[in-house]
Amino acid sequence: MNVVTVFMAAARANPDATAISWIDRPLWNYRSLMERAATLAAGLRTLGLEPGDRLAMAMSNTPAYFEVLLAAWIAGLVPAPQNCRLHPAEIAFAAGDCGAKICFSTEDLTSSLLSAMAGTCRVIDIDSAEFAALHGHGEISGATVRKPTDPALLFYTSGTTGKPKGAIHTHRTLGAMLVSFLADSGAVVDDHILHMAPMSHASGFLGLSYLARARNNVILPTGAFDPDLIQRAALAFGPLSFFAVPTIVRRLVLSDAIGAETVGRIHRIFFGGAPMYLEDLKQAIAKFGTERLWHLYGQGETPNTITYLPPRLFGSPNDADYEERLGSVGIARSGVAVRIAREDGSEAAVDEVGEVAVQGDTLMGGYWNRPEATDAAIRQGWLYTGDLGRMNEKGYVTLVDRSKDMIISGGSNIYPREIEEVLLTHPNVAECAVIGTPDPEWGERPIAYVVCIGETPTPEALQAHLLAHLARYKRPQHYYFLSELPKSAYGKVLKTSLRGMGTDRSVTT
Ligand code: AMP
Repeated sequence: MNVVTVFMAAARANPDATAISWIDRPLWNYRSLMERAATLAAGLRTLGLEPGDRLAMAMSNTPAYFEVLLAAWIAGLVPAPQNCRLHPAEIAFAAGDCGAKICFSTEDLTSSLLSAMAGTCRVIDIDSAEFAALHGHGEISGATVRKPTDPALLFYTSGTTGKPKGAIHTHRTLGAMLVSFLADSGAVVDDHILHMAPMSHASGFLGLSYLARARNNVILPTGAFDPDLIQRAALAFGPLSFFAVPTIVRRLVLSDAIGAETVGRIHRIFFGGAPMYLEDLKQAIAKFGTERLWHLYGQGETPNTITYLPPRLFGSPNDADYEERLGSVGIARSGVAVRIAREDGSEAAVDEVGEVAVQGDTLMGGYWNRPEATDAAIRQGWLYTGDLGRMNEKGYVTLVDRSKDMIISGGSNIYPREIEEVLLTHPNVAECAVIGTPDPEWGERPIAYVVCIGETPTPEALQAHLLAHLARYKRPQHYYFLSELPKSAYGKVLKTSLRGMGTDRSVTT
């Protein structure tokens, strides 16, 4: 089954329902959205793209996002959406990794991508005449036949190796994901979804459930958090639901511009993607009330779908386990099994800390061209998340740490290794280690410990060196220069010791 048939059926039954809106303006109904997708699908064929071929998407939030996604599926292609905040070189790497011949881009990214791709992949701006002309070749009237196990989408996630890996989602994976959300969310009834977060990630995945129910996808530009735009959308449409990382929830709480009228038009805030601290959650409850909050825990390898804490499970402040529940990520989502595994793969006891493991149809088929990484991630049918947690006797999961060294800053993943690899290309850097440090605004920020050779570079010089290769949000907040890094008997850098060291006086800056 091609997953696009779900959206085609919804559109056929509701042709006049608004499908896509931009801020406060309805743009396309389901009839127009599907017509655009079907004609674009025919245009994709003229580019030489055949079923199974990958199509890179480097697009900041735009009405065309779902048009391209649907067109790709109608044509039997495998879209590979990229986070628009990545460095062009990182996007070029992913496009090359999956062998994409074409990359659709938005105007903010096009020129830098043209030089980063250097002819290896053809970049087509979605506002160009070239893109418009793709709609002039008739249409593909039905979905290209696909097997449930055929790849439907590549979700690029930076691995512990530092290089992004493409998690392969099949037509079955995506179908299971959207059905699980329809079953659990208690939303997608008469609410609209507002995309203020990048559509290439959780927000776009949630949008598929709204497309399946022919609801309105209201799109905001990616970029700065803008309460004014949120208010305009809420007043134009309402009730609105949206995905937000904890950093954005905190900003919504603090924003006076999000007043009672706007709050009254919010149906659900699906928050997750990074740890939500208890104090922040209590403030969010004070502003929005529990009935609007829905905690979501997932990862790119099982998108949005591991556990959840919906309003009815928050409990009441008088419950003995109230705080424990609030601090948890809730219980297993519909259609997946969740367990806490010991290192040997056996199931941990109640309240024992181990690695969170997941089983079910939402699991990726594996990583694109990375059999070893796939075997490491999926063992005996269980996806090992790299997150450490415990489960209480009622099945509530509380995350305690990440076994991987990933840093989550403002909801975006930063892998220390990718920063370390670039730092090590500086001629005066002999050794380095990057770890995360708590940050009240972003949750975490990277800091770097550097051992130099020859002349010690200034932090500014290292920053400039990094920015030539990596996205801005990955730059370390501080550099600490050491004469040597703490190491284990096996010569491995002991990041735990660095964490303990923090920024105390033994560190020279
Ligand atoms: P990604 O693959 O980009 O979606 O990142 C997934 C990782 O983000 C997970 O493995 C967790 O470490 C973290 N994460 C996602 N949701 C939550 C949450 N609700 N609470 C804490 N950490 C989370």
